[in-house]
Amino acid sequence: MQVRTVAVIGAGTMGSGIAQVCAQSGWQTRIFDVFPESLDRGVEKIFSFWDKGIEKGKTTVDEKEKWGLNLKACYDISEALENVDLVIEAVPEIMHLKKEIFLKIEDLVPKHAILATNTSSLPISEIANITNCPERVIGMHFFNPVPIMKLLELVKHEKCSKETIELAQSVGQEMGKETILVNDVPGFATSRLGVVLGNEAIKMLSQGVASASDIDTAMKLGYKHPMGPLELSDLVGLDVRRDILNSLAESFDDESYRPHPLLNNLVSEGSLGRKTNKGIYVWDENGKKERDDLPI
Ligand code: NAD
Repeated sequence: MQVRTVAVIGAGTMGSGIAQVCAQSGWQTRIFDVFPESLDRGVEKIFSFWDKGIEKGKTTVDEKEKWGLNLKACYDISEALENVDLVIEAVPEIMHLKKEIFLKIEDLVPKHAILATNTSSLPISEIANITNCPERVIGMHFFNPVPIMKLLELVKHEKCSKETIELAQSVGQEMGKETILVNDVPGFATSRLGVVLGNEAIKMLSQGVASASDIDTAMKLGYKHPMGPLELSDLVGLDVRRDILNSLAESFDDESYRPHPLLNNLVSEGSLGRKTNKGIYVWDENGKKERDDLPI
């Protein structure tokens, strides 16, 4: 099977990036979000990415026009799913929400369609087993920002068919990604290491070991990480990281994965990172600034 039509469910940080790269890959791309204003914001983000590309000379006006014609914002989920070959779900990291979506989409897509989830940590088998077609369900874990990050982590589970894995691999290649294939263990090969490092850095910040920017600089210059663990947490979204840590604690029955209280407090006050302009740092058009209300 060749993928020609894709639906992306959820138009937030990840969904908009995934839809953008699908449209750039030449596929008819439908994007849906349950909140119309989130859908509009997601689509605006894609066009503004292309506009910035034109300003920088990386994208042509013709390309923007061609890609834009491939992209369709759908305010109705059945319209988004009609005759699709592939669905990529990118709604928040909440198991019951993902299960509801998979139950709904299973009945609305053709029998050949592959159903993928962009979950960062939840067991794929649990999502697959809620459907009558677990062999067509797979984890396709993209990274943020999707148009830039090269990695696509594919997560297979026991009932996932060889055809589904091969199709996901070829889709990844066409999107210009390098794929890795990982077994269905919570947190996969990437999120588990990433969130543990970020949580430890937040704990160190709360203990006053060093300022946020010095902790980040330590990892960038001392360990050659391209981005520090605290700025990366702000980029990913502190709510997203908190949810992953909670899901790892539950999956492994190990409380050491629980989010540090400072992370929970930041999320409760609405400081979610770059998407709210405030997280561990304050973010504005000039970049990031230390927060003076956090320990140093
Ligand atoms: P987000 O909060 O930015 O976006 C989620 C979107 O889903 C929102 O626009 C919301 O309106 C929409 N939504 C909520 N309920 C919905 C429903 N029932 N139907 C359709 N849309 C619905 O979240 P995100 O950061 O894009 O994360 C989405 C998924 O991707 C999560 O599973 C997350 O773990 C995973 N992920 C996130 C990152 C990251 O860096 N943020 C990286 C890799 C994977």
